[in-house]
Order: sequence, then structure tokens, then C-alpha cells
Amino acid sequence: MSTLDFLQPDPTTLFEQVAQAGIQGMGGGGFSTARKLRLAWQAKATRVIANAVECEPGINVDAALLAEHSPEVVQGLNIVMTAIGATQGVLAFAADFPKSTIKMLCQQFENQADREPDADSFAANQPSLSCTPITRTAGAGAERHLCQQLFGLSLEPTQYPIDRGVLCLNVGTLFAIQQAIVLGKPLRQRLVTVNGDTNWVSLGTPFADLLTLEEQPGAKTTRRYREGGHYTGKLSPPKAVVTAATNAVWLVEPATQTPCTYCSRCSDACPEALAPQTLHRLCTQPQVGAPSTQASPQSLSESALEANGLSRCTECGLCNNLCPSNIDLLGSFQQAKAQAREQALADARAHRAKQRHERHVSRTQARAQIALQRRESRRESRRLKQRGPDAWR
Ligand code: SF4
Ligand code: SF4
Repeated sequence: MSTLDFLQPDPTTLFEQVAQAGIQGMGGGGFSTARKLRLAWQAKATRVIANAVECEPGINVDAALLAEHSPEVVQGLNIVMTAIGATQGVLAFAADFPKSTIKMLCQQFENQADREPDADSFAANQPSLSCTPITRTAGAGAERHLCQQLFGLSLEPTQYPIDRGVLCLNVGTLFAIQQAIVLGKPLRQRLVTVNGDTNWVSLGTPFADLLTLEEQPGAKTTRRYREGGHYTGKLSPPKAVVTAATNAVWLVEPATQTPCTYCSRCSDACPEALAPQTLHRLCTQPQVGAPSTQASPQSLSESALEANGLSRCTECGLCNNLCPSNIDLLGSFQQAKAQAREQALADARAHRAKQRHERHVSRTQARAQIALQRRESRRESRRLKQRGPDAWR
């Protein structure tokens, strides 16, 4: 891969280079970074958040990356800000990072090596760059929470940060962008926490090469791989491999699910004040709601989910983790949201097709009208010619 003038990058060339480097959201989302950058550029986003608030226990990739490569992350942040025309960049990190890492960040942003970092009050500001510690709580690293905490922006459930001029990228993604643009290196490896230890791992490495399911050769095991955090991670198939979005891999014992006891632990803990057990019931019983209206059962279920605030769920996974019945609450929310997104895309496609058809019909009618008028005018001219010069008087 070629390198790019990172001091004055041409946005579209940069987006192409990021796409060619195979960079995806490395905080676990896996969304195409080139697409996200393009959307932010088109929306004229003015703020960029470098997200290093790993709010799931046990995962240590952002802290390890910043300990080793904070200058490259800051350079990646600068490159992105220059490319999309943003004026404010904030590195948000977990306030309980090791003191040595916080001190290094302090030096990076303030260039004051002798300053004793104070995680509670530290906020080093440069004209356009700053870094801020965030208390590690469930869901603290979610984009909408960071927008609220850093800029006081309350996002509507249907809004994304880009809708309010904020681009949020994981620090791993910014590091990968810096490597691709400055050094011409495509994304080939990433930091992964494997059962608690964090190391560089090549993309495409089978989980089986990182952790073996069999404790003894030939012994049958009920253990499974879990990809991601304890709260938001999901069980993976035995042949799963490391991707750009894999931040952690664990060996776990899958728990047996039992019926809901209505203990209300999930609703008591939900940071968004939702009722996860109700949402789960709606997600898993799409026929719920008596078909007493003309609306379909599917639309009834969707509107019930919306009324119960599914779109406000940040997928922090806290309810999942606390449920004593081991109900896969989060999995059902993610599936319902994915279905809703697919439905929205299908609706948008159908709407565009309808508009195209209507435009086609109106163009055809306009052409037919013009042709008719021309025929009329030619007929009229012929008629006048036949009547001779007197007809013009
Ligand atoms: S925590 Fe689990 S068992 Fe308790 S109410 Fe919620 S879904 Fe039901
Ligand atoms: S995952 Fe559960 S606890 Fe977290 S916001 Fe959604 S419903 Fe609430």
C-alpha cells in the first residue's frame, strides 16, 4: 500500500486508502471505518472522540495500546480531524488506567512530563485536542454516553452521534488509520485479550489456536468460546476466527436457561431505565398483541418494542449479566434491532423504487403530452399551409 500526505490528506483518497487497508471499527462494532469517515465528512462533523473507555471488566486492549502507541493514536486522531475538517478532538480514557499510561497521555497532550496526573481532575487542553478521564461504569464507553458526558449532547433514541456533528472512533481504529496512511500498512493484526492476557494476534487466527476447548485430548467438553466482553459478548462457533472487531476471546461454560422469575434485577440495574424482561418477551413473541386492529402482528410487535424503548437500549449487557435465569436478553435485543434495521432498509428501498416508478410515469406522461402538442402543432401548420397565404391574414 502507498502512503499519503497525512498533513493535508485529500478526504476521498484517504477514505479509499482506509477501505483498502481493511479497517473496521475495532471497539467491537466492526462497522466500516471508511464509510463512517465519509458520513462524518459529508455531515461536516466538527468533533472527534477517540474512545478508550473500555467499560467491560477484564478487557485491556485500549490501555495496552495507549501504553505502547499513544503518539501514533494521537497522530491518527489528527489525521482524521484534518481529513474531515473537525476542529475539536477528545481522547476519552477510563479513569482507572494505570498511572504510567495516564502520565504518558498527559505528556502527549500537554507535553508536561513532570506533571503528576490526577485522574479525577485531569483534563489537558491544547487548542483543538484534549483528553478526559471517564469513570468506568456499565455502558460508560457507549457513544451516546460519551456525547452526553463530554459535550452535554443528549441524543434522541433514533439519532447517531454523527447526526449531532460528532464522530466517535475507537483508539485501535485510529492506530490502524495512522499505520495505513503514514506507513502504508494494511490491517493485519490487532490486540486481543485472550482469557485475561492481552497480546497482538493476526487477523484470521482461529480461536482454537488461542485457546483449546479440549482440556484433555479426546475429552468431550461443554465449554464454548465467547467473543467480546462479559456483558456484551456472544458465544461463538468452534471454528470462529479473529476479526478486526474481536477485542476479547474467553473460554466459558454456557449456562442453562430457565424461565423468568420476575425478580426485576434486570430492570433495577438498567442504566436506561428500561424493562428488559418485557422487551425480551416482545422480542421473542412477535405475535404478541391481539390482532384487533388492521395493523399486522409484526407492526404491532414493532410498535410495542418502540413504545417500550428498544431503541434506547445501548446494548451494555448489564441485564444479561445479572439475570439469575441466564436468559439471553441482550441477544434477543440485538436480533430485534437487526431485524428492524433490515426492515427499515427494505422500506427505504421500496420507497425509492416507488419514487423512481412515479418519476418514470410522470416523465412518460410529460413526453406523451409534448408529442401530442407537437403533433397538434404540425397538424395546425399543415392545415394553414393548405389554406394558402390568406390563412395568415
Ligand atoms: S433478571 Fe432475568 S429472571 Fe429476573 S426479571 Fe429480569 S429476565 Fe426475569
Ligand atoms: S442491555 Fe439491558 S441493561 Fe443495558 S441498556 Fe439494554 S436493556 Fe438496559
